[in-house]
Amino acid sequence: MKLEQLVRKNILKLKPYASARSEFKGTADVFLDANENPFENGVNRYPDPLQWQVKKAIQLLKKIDPRQIFLGNGSDEVIDLLIRIFCEPKLDHIIQLPPTYGMYKVSASIADVAVREVSLTEDFQPDVPKILAEATAHSKLLFLCTPNNPTGNIFEKGRIIELLEAFPGIVVIDEAYIDFAGVDSMSTLLDQYPKLVVMQTFSKAWGMAGIRLGMAFASEEIIGLFNKVKPPYNINQLTQQAALDALQRPERMTQEVEIILEERKRLENELSNLALVQEVCPSHANFILIRVDDPLGLYNYLVEQKIIVRNRSNVHLCKGGIRISVGRPEENQRLLQCLNQRSA
Ligand code: PMP
Repeated sequence: MKLEQLVRKNILKLKPYASARSEFKGTADVFLDANENPFENGVNRYPDPLQWQVKKAIQLLKKIDPRQIFLGNGSDEVIDLLIRIFCEPKLDHIIQLPPTYGMYKVSASIADVAVREVSLTEDFQPDVPKILAEATAHSKLLFLCTPNNPTGNIFEKGRIIELLEAFPGIVVIDEAYIDFAGVDSMSTLLDQYPKLVVMQTFSKAWGMAGIRLGMAFASEEIIGLFNKVKPPYNINQLTQQAALDALQRPERMTQEVEIILEERKRLENELSNLALVQEVCPSHANFILIRVDDPLGLYNYLVEQKIIVRNRSNVHLCKGGIRISVGRPEENQRLLQCLNQRSA
């Protein structure tokens, strides 16, 4: 199916808002076009609506053409825009694979777009035949979260390729945790699959959840649709500056990821030795899902110890599940001490 046939008709027809900064693109000395306050303070001007400097810095690191990059106010904005670009309310639907990240469903529900769910297999892999059996011409988006939240595992590449080959709509691969996975991003497949969208974020490995910056990599055509629909200045000046600063010293991120990976290994080992832990799910992310007998009891005990983890025991396929983010070494030590005491 051609991309155009997947896009909502009102979006195809939409004449996007023309902001002052997008209308005049040259250089000048005096800007009297945007009703700004002219007294310079670092943030008195509207930011670059297309964030070219940030995108060029991302290109240097990830070898992706800036015209194939969209930046959103967190990946959460990317998810919301995808649904509003492709899904006609009350008619189209998205497909998601529970247990998975909660915002796909929430964003779809806000837009009055239905959600079809195809459970992951018992070992948390996409069930390709069932997904394809569920798909129709109204299945506009398929969300694949790999590494998956809350299970922490990665999806087999062969299964992802099968879905890229056969799914009728857009395949969205959410790689929020890819920097912890030790595998290549699926963005290397962008040229082969024009209906592929890969999402990443500054919120995890980059340690910048507070600046709200998410990335989408896709064909120029899809990026054009994002740019048409996004709020004109969706990425503020402070965020663009903070991202540029971080991108100029990526070694800081790599060093922190290295520590987090060592700590993940240590936590996995030590957790699996504890009597109260039934299972430690192998993780490719910066968190670990464990199964315990009494998840609520353990959760409450840890809250008493002033340690907050996430109780996922009511989530599909996650019976007994507690999700633990990998902290700093001393934080993990404190967690292990408390768990040891509880086990004793
Ligand atoms: N995708 C996944 C799988 C996540 O777990 C999260 C955040 N928990 C997000 C996306 C959202 O990321 P952002 O902070 O970029 O909105």
